[in-house]
Amino acid sequence: TTDAVWLAPGEPQEIQSDLVTRFQEEYGRAASGTWFAPGRANLNGEHIDFHAGRCLPMALAHGTYVAAAPRTDGKLRLRTLDASLDDGVTTVRPDQIGPDAPAEPAHWSHYVSGVLWALRELGRSQPEFAVDADFGADLLVVSTLPIGGGLSSSAALECASILAFLALGTPFGQDNPLQDLNAALTRQNRTDLAAACVRAEVEVVGAGTGGLDQSAAMRARPGKVLSLDCRDFSVTPLDIGCIQRGYRLIAVDTGEAHRLADGQFGDRRADAEAAARLLGFDRLRDALPEHPRKADVSHVLEEFDRLAEQLEALEGRSIEACRRRLRHALTEMVRSEKLHHLLSGEAYGVRHIASTVGDILTAAHMSMRDDAEVSFDVADLVVETALAQGAEGARLIGGGFGGSVLVLISPAAIPKLTAALERISRGIRLLDVAPSAAAHAL
Ligand code: ADP
Ligand code: MG
Repeated sequence: TTDAVWLAPGEPQEIQSDLVTRFQEEYGRAASGTWFAPGRANLNGEHIDFHAGRCLPMALAHGTYVAAAPRTDGKLRLRTLDASLDDGVTTVRPDQIGPDAPAEPAHWSHYVSGVLWALRELGRSQPEFAVDADFGADLLVVSTLPIGGGLSSSAALECASILAFLALGTPFGQDNPLQDLNAALTRQNRTDLAAACVRAEVEVVGAGTGGLDQSAAMRARPGKVLSLDCRDFSVTPLDIGCIQRGYRLIAVDTGEAHRLADGQFGDRRADAEAAARLLGFDRLRDALPEHPRKADVSHVLEEFDRLAEQLEALEGRSIEACRRRLRHALTEMVRSEKLHHLLSGEAYGVRHIASTVGDILTAAHMSMRDDAEVSFDVADLVVETALAQGAEGARLIGGGFGGSVLVLISPAAIPKLTAALERISRGIRLLDVAPSAAAHAL
């Protein structure tokens, strides 16, 4: 096997020092600081955060770095060093910052300007977050994540940017300069900032995110998977026992960038929402009891069939398609419940945890493929290949239509897996998923 297939997270200090050098060259002045936010991998809980389901994300060591310095004319000047997106410096005027920004297709700068708008909104109710009226900034962005690879580069960009704005433009930042910010941020602060980033992505960018990605980037704990209850966004950090004792989680970037904005994701979401409305719920989590089990899924599906019996279509959508999206959401919620229970327990052996988590991952992939219908050929092939090479389990993560596959595997099987993946496609990259820290100032 070759190292070329592994995408390294890099050495944060080196990345930071390169970035501030580039910042000086680009803007002709020094950066005031550098902020980082991680990408994420999700053990389970795809397409259910906006239905208030439970998700189990963890932060990657890979992520996005933002170097910045403040301005006093309200403008943003932004540049990304990502080769595929870099189009020089974008200047955003104060009157262009907000939900009236031109939509479709959103320029990457909207993720950043959206965050400044959302922080200003948050500051209206929380004075310590109130952004100075004439605040603006110069930003330079670099990422060690695949962009559009289902590992949430968008939330990483938002969360690193919001910390930069918080540090440079608010009373909170003035009271807690540089790395002091990290200790000063409370859990509630992080929850509020994650919510602001969600507003930026939903209201300014116009993407359908439910909060999973931003919660992971802003609230993850090193070494832990977060069990995130999207009813109230409470979190329970859990150990993944088999990872501490030998097994590895690997994210396989298929090299196919997804295009969530081009309508398919919204279409899947609309199917599931139509099913929820037929059942009389705003969000599908409410169709299940406190601790959902497989039998509960059957009951809800029976109820759906009864209500749909006389109908030819559901809000103009295929009833069969709505039923499949419904089944994905409900079974995904049951899988999250099982994982939460398994990883909360103490009495399980490593082998048992690994094979049970693996089976849940693979079952989730089948649901993504057959019910959510968001998988694609390379992802299916990567899952098949991983299982054939002895992985405990594998699944597509992220919204689908491109993106990455998460694989649980014993170290002994990794060389065979990397060799087999290299034969599938040269575009495939592997990232070690080492549950890492949340967004912070460097
Ligand atoms: P994912 O979050 O899975 O990587 P998304 O489609 O949600 O995929 O977000 C990708 C978009 O986020 C990019 O098209 C770009 O607009 C923005 N983005 C993410 N990372 C960067 C970056 N490092 N530089 C510039 N824009 C970025
Ligand atoms: Mg995203």
